[in-house]
Amino acid sequence: MPDHDPNCIFCKIARHEIPANVVYEDDETVAFRDLNPQAPVHILIIPVRHLASLNEASAEPALLGKLLVAAQRIAAEHGLAERGYRVVNNIGADGGQSVGHLHFHLLGGRSLGWPPG
Ligand code: AMP
Repeated sequence: MPDHDPNCIFCKIARHEIPANVVYEDDETVAFRDLNPQAPVHILIIPVRHLASLNEASAEPALLGKLLVAAQRIAAEHGLAERGYRVVNNIGADGGQSVGHLHFHLLGGRSLGWPPG
């Protein structure tokens, strides 16, 4: 699998080919606000490198750890640490994944229901 997919919208965001409201980035990670927020804070944390989903990330434990630590840090920066928040990863059709580039949703700023739909 090449490092990026030219047809992938999140690859385009990671490569600054289309605009996004980026809140954090480093060599391996980009975090940006979701276009259709489901909570007062709704940020997507993605790897720069194209991985279609968690199913393709079994050889990437360090990268997965970095994405989760970034989610935790961004949550703290947005004042979510005390009241709590949710980190969600949708996988495949039944999981509700609509963009085929691995991403974690960081949701917070309101009380979140359970179970999810
Ligand atoms: P999922 O359904 O888990 O694949 O989540 C994909 C998310 O990406 C959805 O919450 C969309 O609102 C969001 N999204 C799609 N395109 C963009 C974009 N160009 N910029 C920011 N968020 C986007």
